[in-house]
Amino acid sequence: MSIKDNLQNIKSGIPEHVTLVAVSKTKPVSDLMEAYDAGQRIFGENKIQEMVEKYEQMPKDIQWHMIGHVQRNKVKYMAEFVSLIHGVDSFKLLKEINKQAKKYDRVINCLLQIKIADEDSKFGMSANDATTLLHSDEFSELKNIEIVGLMGMATFTDNMAQVENEFRFLKTTFDKLKTQNSELKILSMGMSGDYKLAIECGSTMIRVGSSIFGARNYH
Ligand SMILES: *Cc1c(COP(=O)(O)O)cnc(C)c1O
Repeated sequence: MSIKDNLQNIKSGIPEHVTLVAVSKTKPVSDLMEAYDAGQRIFGENKIQEMVEKYEQMPKDIQWHMIGHVQRNKVKYMAEFVSLIHGVDSFKLLKEINKQAKKYDRVINCLLQIKIADEDSKFGMSANDATTLLHSDEFSELKNIEIVGLMGMATFTDNMAQVENEFRFLKTTFDKLKTQNSELKILSMGMSGDYKLAIECGSTMIRVGSSIFGARNYH
């Protein structure tokens, strides 16, 4: 099936309140343009350099989401145009994003990444650390970032009961934090293999790559 068909299939199967991020990492611009021509405007990349290169070559009405782990020394390359950073997992990183956003007189929207997976390799902060951060004075002084939600990645496993538990934990954390931080609106969870389950568990933003663009050869 074509990229266009894949997109249409996914879109017709998800509720309207759920935003689809087309994860285009490792894929050539020609593939992204196929999705663009089919109406897709939100793309997710996990490497800053690759996102910058694609941003430069593609139409300017695209919203670029950084979904991968962010190195602080590279924030400056995307600060001018990035529309949402999913993987914020420390106050230090947030401070750097704030500093770079200020240079462009922007407010950059961010999600706090919460570690929900039972794996050492997945990044993220604990739910308690997120709560502490959102209530800190240091945080309230950052005027050029806004935390608009949470993001999480479930364990890479066939055990869907475990994945469901992890998604439900993130949704509970999200609901708790939302009562005190009304600007939290986005819950980013779910990928090709588990987005339907994620939506059942309360996801409002799914990050789908291989189900749109086909399997990746590397990363
Ligand atoms: C690659 C990636 C995805 C998409 O994965 P697929 O299984 O191809 O849909 C989603 N989220 C993050 C953080 C990723 O790195």
